[in-house]
Amino acid sequence: MLNIALVIIAYFFMEFVAWSNHKYVMHGFLWRWHKDHHVNDQYKVSLDKMATSRFEKNDLFFLVYAIPAIILMIIGLTINMLSLVFIGIGITLYGFTYFIIHDILIHQRLRIPFLFRKPGYYTDAIINAHLAHHRPKSADDFRNFGLLIFPLRFFKK
Ligand SMILES: [Zn+2]
Ligand SMILES: [Zn+2]
Repeated sequence: MLNIALVIIAYFFMEFVAWSNHKYVMHGFLWRWHKDHHVNDQYKVSLDKMATSRFEKNDLFFLVYAIPAIILMIIGLTINMLSLVFIGIGITLYGFTYFIIHDILIHQRLRIPFLFRKPGYYTDAIINAHLAHHRPKSADDFRNFGLLIFPLRFFKK
């Protein structure tokens, strides 16, 4: 039971980590890793959503998160401290969610049609909120750095 709680806490803690990393690091001193993600998005819009399948420098951030999760799981298994393994699982599950929502559902970098645009109240709001960051109509739009948690106003559109 405690272990399941750890998975859930680690998962939602990662939303906070992703938000603060996006806000202060990716749009800060590591902008040079994140920039091509924004450029690619602009490019796709101008070419009528033509898919670009190549990697982005921005993908390095997946390693930044995956490596600590893998290390936690290895240490946890080695010293028999399963709570570390469950924290690692929470981080990994968040990474999968981020990839599926951000890279497949929103930016459609892989052609997996059954995952595309399943219309839904929350799904539509996630997409609106993230695209507001990419194509902001106001400074407030641009400041939406989170993925799963965002201002309620995006539910209305
Ligand atoms: Zn950004
Ligand atoms: Zn994006």
